[in-house]
Amino acid sequence: MSGTERPNVLSIELPYADRTQSGHAVEARWSSDGSRILVARGVDPRPWPLLDAARPDLGAALALGGAVVVVAGTARVLRRPRHVGRIYCRRCNHDLNTAPGERPSSPRCPECGVALTPRTCVTGASRGGRLARVAIPAIVAMALGVSIFVESIGHVPAPIGAAGGPAWPVAGASAIGNWPWWRRTTVEQPAHFKRRVDSVRIGADGLRLEGSALLVGNSSWVPSPSGAVIAWPEHAVETGWAPRVSWFDVSLGRGGSADLDEPHVGFPSVCGWSPDGREVIALLQRTGMEFHQRNARDDGTMVVDIDVFAIDTASGVVRLVDSGEGRATGNAATSWVIGPAIAAIGADPTARTVILVGEQSGGIALRNLCIIGNAGMRVVPVTGEVLRDAWGFRSAWITADGRLGVEFASMFTADGAGRGCPQRLIDLDTGLVSTPSSATAGPEGTAAGPERTFLDPEAPRTGGRISPDGTRTARLEIDWSTPERVSRIRVVVDQAEAPGADAGTRADSVDAADRAPAP
Ligand SMILES: [Zn+2]
Repeated sequence: MSGTERPNVLSIELPYADRTQSGHAVEARWSSDGSRILVARGVDPRPWPLLDAARPDLGAALALGGAVVVVAGTARVLRRPRHVGRIYCRRCNHDLNTAPGERPSSPRCPECGVALTPRTCVTGASRGGRLARVAIPAIVAMALGVSIFVESIGHVPAPIGAAGGPAWPVAGASAIGNWPWWRRTTVEQPAHFKRRVDSVRIGADGLRLEGSALLVGNSSWVPSPSGAVIAWPEHAVETGWAPRVSWFDVSLGRGGSADLDEPHVGFPSVCGWSPDGREVIALLQRTGMEFHQRNARDDGTMVVDIDVFAIDTASGVVRLVDSGEGRATGNAATSWVIGPAIAAIGADPTARTVILVGEQSGGIALRNLCIIGNAGMRVVPVTGEVLRDAWGFRSAWITADGRLGVEFASMFTADGAGRGCPQRLIDLDTGLVSTPSSATAGPEGTAAGPERTFLDPEAPRTGGRISPDGTRTARLEIDWSTPERVSRIRVVVDQAEAPGADAGTRADSVDAADRAPAP
């Protein structure tokens, strides 16, 4: 690394920092091949969010104003008859008695005395044309006002609860009294938020913002090994509860989506990528009502059918890879807590597909492995642990030595900082859980190449995070100096060799495994 002339520190400022939602963590990670840094944050993507502010007052004013203009304008036109082509005094409508096309000879209006200039003279037009000139803009304004009014009312939550509140018309009178006639902004409505993932490409001479993906809601996302394609699940009322997987290729600037099945059959999740990085691995937990009835057990658990899919992001083709089972826990009478699961596929015929099933109980408790190979399915109990800081699975892969690697989605601290994404390796024969070590979990040992570095938002203090090949460190600089607002987000990459002293600052998430010796 010595003797090079390339700049040691590269940095890039991310756009639209001020649209960042201050209440959420800004998360950054290396792609597993070290070519990109991906930065995710919650944003308000609307170009003019203030236009969404609910303003029933403005809408009503516009509608009433338009109506007044229509009525008054129509009356004025009817009161002031004109012949086409003749010239009239604009002020008093006196016919100036000119031949068509001539200017009036007199300097002043004989009727009202106003000085006759091109501004105070008007040429007569047809009544229909005059009416249209007044009424059409006014009617457009009225329509706009009415639509703003109706739309704004839709945005304003009812001040009185529908259930248990006073009945109409008392409720109506009270609602008018409590109406937020003044500006009622919807800027802070989470329904508008999306997760933006910026992909920063590391070149020889600098950092380049390659592109951005906008994810629906607060979806968890999994980048491809190169970091060029971002994949995420969608399961929402807007898409009719179809179990959908979407992706966006930031290098090509295009994306797509595919439905795993019909709407309402269950929950989709994105697990990772195929070993060659071409297919998204997704699973569908079939939790429709018929499964409740058929598969519920007396102990409060329920067997959940799980299908594992591979989706080709180039063609959009969805391929059912394998089917296994998971487990949901909870109370059938009230609500189920869906037992979370994640899957990975590999090339080994004895473990073609591995599904890890956990249980949400103050963290993620690891329960069992469902291993599907050419010989059929076997279930291996996981002798393991409860990850207290995890709320879900993030990605999974099968290592070259035949173990399941899992990365968990972590809780966030109160100040919005991520705690990193803990990783574990699980032996497919014994179910024994271990923390990755350099011998088995280095990037070169993982065919699927999961992303493995979580850049700490507090990186200025901890020294940043180290690239998969160990040659660079990266950190985020986030300016929170303005209250409740992010004013600047900068990605900084230090090309100096990663100092070994940084090892171990986050023992639970990334250990020495991620700092393979530099070439
Ligand atoms: Zn006049």
